[in-house]
Amino acid sequence: MKTLLICEYREGKLLESSYELVAFADKLGAEKAMVLIGKEAEVPKVNGKLYLADVAKYGEYKPDLHKKIVLEAVKKEDPDAIVFLHSSYGWDLAPRVAAALKAGQVSEIVSINEGKFEVGLCNAKLRRTVTPQTGKMVLTIQAGAFNVAGDPQGKAQIEKIDLPDAVSPLEFVGYEPAQKKEVDLARAEVVVSAGRGVGKKENVAIIAALAKALGGELGASRPVVDAGWVEHSRQVGTTGQIVAPKLYVACGISGAIQHVAGMKKSEFVVAINKDKDAPIGEVADVLVVADVMQFVPALTAMLQK
Ligand SMILES: Cc1cc2nc3c(=O)[nH]c(=O)nc-3n(C[C@H](O)[C@H](O)[C@H](O)COP(=O)(O)OP(=O)(O)OC[C@H]3O[C@@H](n4cnc5c(N)ncnc54)[C@H](O)[C@@H]3O)c2cc1C
Repeated sequence: MKTLLICEYREGKLLESSYELVAFADKLGAEKAMVLIGKEAEVPKVNGKLYLADVAKYGEYKPDLHKKIVLEAVKKEDPDAIVFLHSSYGWDLAPRVAAALKAGQVSEIVSINEGKFEVGLCNAKLRRTVTPQTGKMVLTIQAGAFNVAGDPQGKAQIEKIDLPDAVSPLEFVGYEPAQKKEVDLARAEVVVSAGRGVGKKENVAIIAALAKALGGELGASRPVVDAGWVEHSRQVGTTGQIVAPKLYVACGISGAIQHVAGMKKSEFVVAINKDKDAPIGEVADVLVVADVMQFVPALTAMLQK
């Protein structure tokens, strides 16, 4: 199989997440070529062909022109799969490319199983396996699902792409920072997060007390935020904040991929879960198999001594 990986570039920099596309192709055992609308100084350190279009001409995002550039690279490479990140860039551009190619699209792939793609359903509680039936396919991959091992060391073989007819009625204006967050979890050295396993809103105070005893901030998984137990600015994960503390403590959190994507850069992870097989155990340095409501108050009391 041959893949064409659509790398991402933002505010003058290659996005590190572009390497997740490479990890995906490697896991698939596929050949890879890449596309970047960016600058030569910021190309991915990966061996293989890279089609480079100049961001000064095409903007960081002009959907009509970016689609044309991807299609031009498709013409040259004839890939079986065109792969995007499931990001705001990818989820806008991928369907445009799929429609132009009349290709089937599979969105938000979290895993590969014997060459088939696994995607979540029922709020990621279940997974289904999908294989497009079209000759070419367009794929988007979930952030954090495919990770590169080690520092990338390769050198891309660059081929420039320029469109003769590069006029767009759209103008890329820039980015506006999201509203200032009440809490900047991204800078916290310790984050202690409450998951659905804490049971009810009143119990969140017990997790917050541990966060305070450790000199850290309270975080939360999405169901806890959706239930209104904790404000959204404390949500960790793909639709919350990305954190990288020295210590992350996950209390009653199962370890769904969308949560792990937000905390996997933590230096040391302690998970407290009554289920010894909870997936959070795969990313935890220490898994404490216990009831959070018994273990956490005891730990906090010890720390306060
Ligand atoms: C598009 C999309 C985006 C998403 N974005 C995010 C996101 O940004 N952040 C996020 O967190 N999720 C996100 N999710 C949701 C995610 O898929 C999971 O549903 C969610 O992370 C699960 O939260 P949880 O681990 O708290 O709950 P659950 O999965 O229900 O896990 C609860 C855990 O608590 C344990 N437990 C129960 N009782 C106790 C007890 N008394 N003591 C100890 N352990 C106990 C259980 O064994 C279980 O492992 C997203 C989903 C989708 C589809």
